[in-house]
Amino acid sequence: MGDTRSYGFETQAIHAGQPADDQTGAVMTPIYATSTYRQDGVGGLRNGYEYSRTGNPTRHALEECLATLEQGARAVAFSSGMAAEDALLRVVCRPGDHVVIPHDAYGGTYRLFNQVLSPWGLDHTPAPGDDVDAIVGALQPGRTKVIWIETPTNPLLGIADIAALAEVAEHHSALLVVDNTFATPYLQQPLTLGAHAVVHSTTKYAGGHSDVVGGAVVTADRDLGDEVARFQNSTGATAGPFDAYLVLRGLKTLAVRMERHCDNAERIVDFLVSHDAVGKILYPGLEQHAGHVVASKQMRRYGGMISFRLAAGREAALEVCNRAQLFTLAESLGGVESLIELPATMTHASVAESPLAVPDDLVRLSVGIESIDDLLADLEQALAS
Ligand SMILES: *Cc1c(COP(=O)(O)O)cnc(C)c1O
Repeated sequence: MGDTRSYGFETQAIHAGQPADDQTGAVMTPIYATSTYRQDGVGGLRNGYEYSRTGNPTRHALEECLATLEQGARAVAFSSGMAAEDALLRVVCRPGDHVVIPHDAYGGTYRLFNQVLSPWGLDHTPAPGDDVDAIVGALQPGRTKVIWIETPTNPLLGIADIAALAEVAEHHSALLVVDNTFATPYLQQPLTLGAHAVVHSTTKYAGGHSDVVGGAVVTADRDLGDEVARFQNSTGATAGPFDAYLVLRGLKTLAVRMERHCDNAERIVDFLVSHDAVGKILYPGLEQHAGHVVASKQMRRYGGMISFRLAAGREAALEVCNRAQLFTLAESLGGVESLIELPATMTHASVAESPLAVPDDLVRLSVGIESIDDLLADLEQALAS
């Protein structure tokens, strides 16, 4: 097979880092369930493999595939998205440094900054990610090492202008890190817009089947990626071979899944727009969405996540979550099955009463790839009062 970088996205997702197995011709990357590797004489490593914390062929295949899909220099696969975020921040920052984070960051990301990295000595300032001037205002010259953004954000679906913020970061000698979990490299490739690193919770769309927890860092610069890998080897939060296999398997269908997630989400937005019980709808594909123009510039389509407020307030939002049947009441997102949740009391409970608190009448949908008529019927009955 030639250099997979010259292939289209769908081809890369299926083939990058995944040549047929040398030994057997197996078309699928084997799950290398081994902790150690026989050496051909002392120090005679085969393909560099020595011990599986340091390197494992299944994990390596996943890393090659992710690096290719994000058009990065190197990817490192972790045991969770949080482990990936923590590793990147500890590689790039030192105690005494400062980071700008988005107002409505993923709850776990906020908790990492607030409860783990703050005591370690890393300061952070929340700023609205969709407001470049506000982010510039939150920078502390000489101290700010990272501008951290999510786009679209969770759960408010705010859009940050990646190219504009990459310029700001460059100007202030900081790194722009983009959490690309919601968009995935199929819908948006931050490294091609100037971001320095991308993080993923591969638990979500990358894995896509709600059967694995994993994470990844992808860097534009190989040296930075190598440093993250060294940090991971020293601290140990690697993706296990079976987990790496599950994500690799999920990636093969990422493009077709994302197309259907987007198709279904667009149909559901159309339905919600005309429903009396529904208040504000947050979906970057809507023309009246504050980030619509930027989203159209940097995303292929607008994704499978929708949040909306209930005109009648929190009780009504609770009712909708409890009445939904096909939409399963659960945290997480990005799987083939549709999920519904109340962020203020579920995924975002940890940011209640912080600057990152979300409205208590907000319902978040992770739109799956089931038959659209069944999804619409379920929302119709859940919204009926
Ligand atoms: C889930 C999630 C994370 C954390 O990932 P885990 O795999 O749960 O550790 C980080 N960022 C976003 C946007 C997420 O949705």
